[in-house]
Amino acid sequence: MHKYQISKMRNIVAGNWKSNKSINEAREWMSVMGEAMDSMPNDVRVIIAPPAPYLSELAGSDRNGILIAAQQVSAFSDGAYTGEFTANMLVSCGVDFALVGHSERRADFNESDEIVAKKVRRCIDAGLGVMLCCGENLASRDEGSQETVIKEQLISALEGVSSEEMTGVVVAYEPIWAIGTGRTASADQAAEMHRFIRHYLADRFDADTASKTSILYGGSCKPSNADELFTCSDVDGGLIGGASLDTADFQLIIKSDSSY
Ligand code: PEP
Repeated sequence: MHKYQISKMRNIVAGNWKSNKSINEAREWMSVMGEAMDSMPNDVRVIIAPPAPYLSELAGSDRNGILIAAQQVSAFSDGAYTGEFTANMLVSCGVDFALVGHSERRADFNESDEIVAKKVRRCIDAGLGVMLCCGENLASRDEGSQETVIKEQLISALEGVSSEEMTGVVVAYEPIWAIGTGRTASADQAAEMHRFIRHYLADRFDADTASKTSILYGGSCKPSNADELFTCSDVDGGLIGGASLDTADFQLIIKSDSSY
């Protein structure tokens, strides 16, 4: 018997465009998806993370319930940090969430666990939702240390975070070896890691907090595998990269996440 109530979980499908699409393509995507939202299941929350230059416009557009996420956020507060954009700025633009700790940011932009933790704190203090990404690399998976890696990432990222503050945090489990590779974690692998994360949250906070925290799977999720992944008991939805670029694929994935 789990310590948490599965029925209280919140289904979320979030898209991450990464550095793709022109502003016109972004507008077109939002217009098509905004209309399609009327026929999407109402138990799935939809989030999209466009490139930063488009955030303000898309957040202010007619988005029919689609939430907007930044793909990253500064670890600093407002001030003399050329090129950075802060959690406060994102909130002032109507942005709802920020992705924090995505493996591409960790690997390509040297974002350490310490920086990730600072970003989590900045977002929480600004009232910006956090989509906290964690995931092991192939070497860790091959040596069987994936749980240790994820636990260390979560301990560090959530240091000082209270259970009340967790209401603004979504966790995305994204095995690095599955991101953009076409290689997806099996349903068993995803279920095992999501169960592990849920239990960790129950130990770290409490059963109620663990039950209310959405835990998303990310890594080559697409219409053909979304059903199988989302039916795993602790998988509340997905963080979708490549397949979020296409509105038809994205809609199919959203439908796969419905509990109805
Ligand atoms: C991601 O970037 O978070 C991701 C899951 O990408 P993809 O779906 O393309 O593997």
